[in-house]
Amino acid sequence: MIPKPAQYLLRFDDLCPTVSRTRWERFLPLIEEFEIRPILAVIPDNLDHSLELSPPDPEFWAGMRAMQTAGATIGLHGYQHICDSRGQSLLALHRSSEFAGVAEGVQRQWIRAGLEILRGHGLNPKLWVAPRHGFDGNTLRVLREQGIHALSDGFSRVPYRRGGLTWIPQQLWEPVDKPKGLWTICIHPNTAGSSLVMQLQLFLRHHAAQFTSVERVLDELCPGELSWGERLYEKLALWRAHASRARKRVRSRRHRSSSS
Ligand SMILES: [Zn+2]
Repeated sequence: MIPKPAQYLLRFDDLCPTVSRTRWERFLPLIEEFEIRPILAVIPDNLDHSLELSPPDPEFWAGMRAMQTAGATIGLHGYQHICDSRGQSLLALHRSSEFAGVAEGVQRQWIRAGLEILRGHGLNPKLWVAPRHGFDGNTLRVLREQGIHALSDGFSRVPYRRGGLTWIPQQLWEPVDKPKGLWTICIHPNTAGSSLVMQLQLFLRHHAAQFTSVERVLDELCPGELSWGERLYEKLALWRAHASRARKRVRSRRHRSSSS
């Protein structure tokens, strides 16, 4: 059943000790004030230089533990965030990713190592958040084996079961008022400008009561197989996301050629 009124989840991506501190810290008072229980997508062993925006924060892991205690859900955001594989993803939003197409044995090694690192820091990862939406059937198999039974991805309006895992959809990159459905708003603190912080603040003022948590979604929305109608909706939404990305690419290419 599609929840009505709409419910929302907030997800923060690319968290690691070198996340931009000034940008990340602008979201913390909002999480506290509106008692949000976000998904924190943490990279266990970041080697992606583009995500080194501040000197490594010695308090980073303690901060994640404190937020977990306050009700946040920890997501395993890949392993090292090096997106060199060009394999086909189940979602196919990007041309390259860290996991899609990588041999099962390697994926097993990375997922095990990632979980071990996060657990070693006192975190209890409950779901999978794939870097660049890149994962395949082997990823799902390894996650199941390793005791991770949920992931944050997909374009439907309800959570559902597929490939032995519960898929909690993630369809938005900024707050949008929706009449019904479950919507995850994904925010990248490293690139979030002050206008997004203000937009989120305004949205939370009106909709804080509609924000839920991963725990509640799994308990209350009883994810099952996706209906045919919702599958069709998901396909169309994925197609729209592709079309909008293609338009953005063309615009930025035109912009580059006109400014060079
Ligand atoms: Zn990422």
